[in-house]
Amino acid sequence: MLTELIRQYYSSAADIAPTHISEREFGFGEFGRKISIRHIAFENEDQLRRYLVANAPPYVSFSSAYYKYPGARPMENKKIEAAELVFDLDATDMDLSCQKVHGKQWVCQNCLHEVKRETTRLIEDFLIPDFGFDEKEISINFSGNRGYHVHVVSDKVLTLDNYARNEISSYIRAIGIDFESFFPTAGKKGKQLKGPKPSDIGWGGRIARSFIDALHAGKDSLMKLGMDSATATRLYRKKALVELGINNGNWDMVYIKKKEEFWSKIINNQSIMQSDKIDKNVTSDATHLIRLPNSIHGDTGLISKKIGSIRDLERFDPMRECIAFKKGEAKIKVAKSPELTMNGMTFGPFEDKEVRVPMYVAVYLYLKGYAEILDVSE
Ligand SMILES: [Zn+2]
Repeated sequence: MLTELIRQYYSSAADIAPTHISEREFGFGEFGRKISIRHIAFENEDQLRRYLVANAPPYVSFSSAYYKYPGARPMENKKIEAAELVFDLDATDMDLSCQKVHGKQWVCQNCLHEVKRETTRLIEDFLIPDFGFDEKEISINFSGNRGYHVHVVSDKVLTLDNYARNEISSYIRAIGIDFESFFPTAGKKGKQLKGPKPSDIGWGGRIARSFIDALHAGKDSLMKLGMDSATATRLYRKKALVELGINNGNWDMVYIKKKEEFWSKIINNQSIMQSDKIDKNVTSDATHLIRLPNSIHGDTGLISKKIGSIRDLERFDPMRECIAFKKGEAKIKVAKSPELTMNGMTFGPFEDKEVRVPMYVAVYLYLKGYAEILDVSE
């Protein structure tokens, strides 16, 4: 039944062909195995669609790399020519409190909200301002399950090697942030401690801005950065003066004992707090296969839908907009499942229940391992 639904989806699905289709490697999976065959290549959309309709695979992946001979094997014979820079943001990589309640397998509205926020942050706080990519060079799609994929197709990244891709990842994760590069007078006796201004680009400006935010938020926020209570109180009391100084790149407005050591620790903690959520997301291996936008995800039955723009991402609701199987209903048997919101409606929580639900709900709960499908009606 599921295979038939997938076949129907691909027979009429729009926009399934990626750019550079004839230079991509494709991989396909079966239930329980995300990639069971790879090294497949297609000349055009027509060929791809025929394959998808004939085989109805539950998972479709493609290479972010462009190859001269995408179907060749082993990998070296493909002759890589370029590769998009891909970020894979997944709610399971985030340490969310809701996951302690519902487990890592389930995805709730909060998970989807948080991972969307991280995706927006990656694009708006890093990719556009720090790397200078244009919005038109960034494409976003829902992963089909619990996250988002961001593809950068700028000429500036297409030919980067794996080392350079790792460097980008390290930069975003603030690995190797060097205190002295932001505080050039550090350690020089009798000199005013000069540091980054909020208007600076990159990590310098980010550090200055987030420190000022912490200053306004109060003593507790300052202490979370690793300050002792007395210093936090003193800085908070003089916050107007401290802010005025930092706005002009002067981090020396209030006397602090061992100031270099003090600020170095604060800045280090700050960069960790700012970056930990977008950990391990750059795909540094250009030969890696990733979900094809607008294909079905076999863990959910949802579409890994392509999103038009960053503004569209803001309003994007995957549990409404990525529904593939809109027609029909099914009777399911559920032992126990959390509350599920799909298409603007709430289903469950169910416990030891047989219930008739829309097809997309039945498929979602079945694929997630929460329900058995008993019968299907049009
Ligand atoms: Zn959650």
